[in-house]
Amino acid sequence: MDISFQQVNFAYAPNTPFEKKALHDINVSIKTGSYTAVIGHTGSGKSTLLLHLNGLLKPTEGTVRIGDTLITSETKGKALRNVRRNVGIVFQFPEHQLFEETVEKDIMFGPLNFGIPEDEARKRAHELIEMLGLPADVANKSPFELSGGQMRRVAIAGVLAFKPSVLILDEPTAGLDPQGRREIMELFERFHKEEGLTTILVTHSMEDAARYAEHVIVMHEGSAVLAGPPEEVLTDAEQLSAYRLELPRSVRFQKDFERLVHQQLPQPALTEEK
Ligand code: ADP
Repeated sequence: MDISFQQVNFAYAPNTPFEKKALHDINVSIKTGSYTAVIGHTGSGKSTLLLHLNGLLKPTEGTVRIGDTLITSETKGKALRNVRRNVGIVFQFPEHQLFEETVEKDIMFGPLNFGIPEDEARKRAHELIEMLGLPADVANKSPFELSGGQMRRVAIAGVLAFKPSVLILDEPTAGLDPQGRREIMELFERFHKEEGLTTILVTHSMEDAARYAEHVIVMHEGSAVLAGPPEEVLTDAEQLSAYRLELPRSVRFQKDFERLVHQQLPQPALTEEK
């Protein structure tokens, strides 16, 4: 599902004294099956950008195209539902949204809501429990009995369960230790590769952007100021510092970006939390 932003502007509370312009003339394209990282300082517009991708926000001006669906300020109803069916979002701390009595029911909630038959939804829930490395007996436990890392996996399973073709990850490893971060990032990598999932990662981690993404978009004060492959975008210290970003550590210390991008560097250098 190709995605593009065409001359998109967005303001919160438009035409009121509280109006806040958050996106300016955004023109970006994301190809089906690609892995894109969106980076930028806090307040640069990353979350606003991604909320346009499943119709939670609509452009004030311009068009967002998601596959065959066009979203403009006028779009309503079926088109938005269609987009939500195809685009899954893993929000920050997704475990805060768990609410069902059992893990199985929680994972099945999304698929049932989108009209997937119960048997199929249950089968998918059990497959995901296994694929996400959760013990089989969690299915009938309360999600609140699980560890923090397990709860996060259950919440992620709930998004993957309705088989979106686009997966949006908003700082999906926030609050995890280095080992947990790496495991979760490797899981997304697997889904991206094995299921051809178009993946869009919003991250503060320049390391993760360098390691996993094929395409990087830099946001700054509501504009998409740079876009391109990580080996171009993430190697220019001067340009990045203009947007209050730093080179990924591995570029500074190891000066071997090619190998980082191709994921052959030894792991330890990549795990430090800021
Ligand atoms: P990021 O995700 O990069 O931190 P955001 O997209 O959250 O950036 O924010 C972009 C700009 O929009 C910021 O100036 C922020 O203060 C503002 N903003 C975000 N959400 C709202 C809102 N609900 N109402 C008004 N302004 C907002």
